[in-house]
Amino acid sequence: NIGSRIKLADGHTMPQEGLGVYRMTDEEQLIKSVKSAYDDGYRLFDTAQMYGNEAAVGKAIKDLHVNRDDIFVTTKVAEDNQGYDQTIASVEESLKKLQLDYVDLLLVHWPIHTHFFETWRAFESLKEQGLVKSIGTSNYGMLHLQYLATKANEMPVVNQLEVHPYLSQQAMVDFDRENHIVTQAWAPLGRGRIFDDPVIVKIANQHGKSAAQVILRWHFQRGDAFIPKSVHPERIRQNADIYDFELSSDEMKLVDGLNRNTRISQEPEMVY
Ligand code: NAD
Repeated sequence: NIGSRIKLADGHTMPQEGLGVYRMTDEEQLIKSVKSAYDDGYRLFDTAQMYGNEAAVGKAIKDLHVNRDDIFVTTKVAEDNQGYDQTIASVEESLKKLQLDYVDLLLVHWPIHTHFFETWRAFESLKEQGLVKSIGTSNYGMLHLQYLATKANEMPVVNQLEVHPYLSQQAMVDFDRENHIVTQAWAPLGRGRIFDDPVIVKIANQHGKSAAQVILRWHFQRGDAFIPKSVHPERIRQNADIYDFELSSDEMKLVDGLNRNTRISQEPEMVY
């Protein structure tokens, strides 16, 4: 069920599914969405410094009145905050806004040339201090990770990437796996652009499920982590209700076959 967790290389575990809160800028709406997700079994909430809503996420979590270790909170260091001192200061600020003593997962939001290693050194130090439990990257390609490996003491345990049926990133997902890195799919639903795809619609009809549910089930069966976003309680519930059916291997192949390597975001540039 939605409670299933993935083991990370650093010994921690992470819920396989979570709620993304990108572009949830209305505080009241965000609080309602987090509450509704929690009630449906979501335990992971994915925010970022860049989203401008860490304080609202903090409020929403406080309002849940749950034990800290019952939930898993991810935030990401913005491009402007990269660098050793800036990263440390920005994460202390994030923790204040989130009203937390630690975040479960801290990600470098985007690979940039400046401060590439200094930022990561700050991540390692924040982990050592216990201010973050696990450290990872986002939007890192193979070369970024190989470059990071030349100086890192610890490698990322999660790499959050744009992944959906139109951008399956199979080679990158395999690379992550070979390096003991969990791929976490952002825009797992392709931000809504795949719902009308005839292949998805046909499979959905056969199972009596929605297009969104088929897509998320594909992620689940691939073994990735994924963080769909919605502010509508019925969709939040629907996105968690994917554990009572199974895609056959032929259906998995049909969805795999939809890949067209089209991105929502720009392609991350090489940094050196
Ligand atoms: P998504 O693929 O999760 O799609 C979200 C959109 O799909 C919603 O706005 C809604 O319109 C629609 N939707 C969701 N559930 C639905 C349902 N059941 N039925 C019909 N429509 C539905 O896209 P996203 O929000 O871009 O990505 C998810 C999360 O990933 C974000 O909220 C954020 O936390 C994270 N993210 C990370 C990065 C990064 O660079 N690391 C970039 C973008 C997003």
